[in-house]
Formats: sequence, C-alpha cells, structure tokens
Amino acid sequence: MPIYEYVCKDCGQKYEKFVRSATAEVKLVCPSCGSERGEKALSLFGAVSGSARSGGASTSFSSAPSCGPVG
Ligand SMILES: [Zn+2]
Repeated sequence: MPIYEYVCKDCGQKYEKFVRSATAEVKLVCPSCGSERGEKALSLFGAVSGSARSGGASTSFSSAPSCGPVG
C-alpha cells in the first residue's frame, strides 16, 4: 500500500499519509498542530540522525499525545 510517513516540521509529529501515486501531490496536514509543513520521512527503524539544524527554532514544543516516544 502506498502509505508514506511524514514528519511535521513544526512540532515533529509523525503521521502517515495515503498517497495514490508517487508523483501525485498530497496536502500534508499535521494531525497534532494542523501545520501543512511536512517532510517526507523514511520508514526505517533504528535510523536516527543526530544532526543539529540551524534555523528558526520553535519554542512551542509539546509532547505527543499517545504515539510512542518522541525521538
Ligand atoms: Zn505539527
């Protein structure tokens, strides 16, 4: 099934999105904060990138409701 995983750039919430085609445009909406700024994430378990990013740091950080530990 063409289900891709995305990560919200605002709150870091991970969510899955059903995509018909790989080239089809999908509207990403974060289920946690409603942000449309999502980034496609690789569904690889254990792969953790600990690189710090420089940019606008958001001060509103909230823990995930019930979706496992926030990595
Ligand atoms: Zn979000």
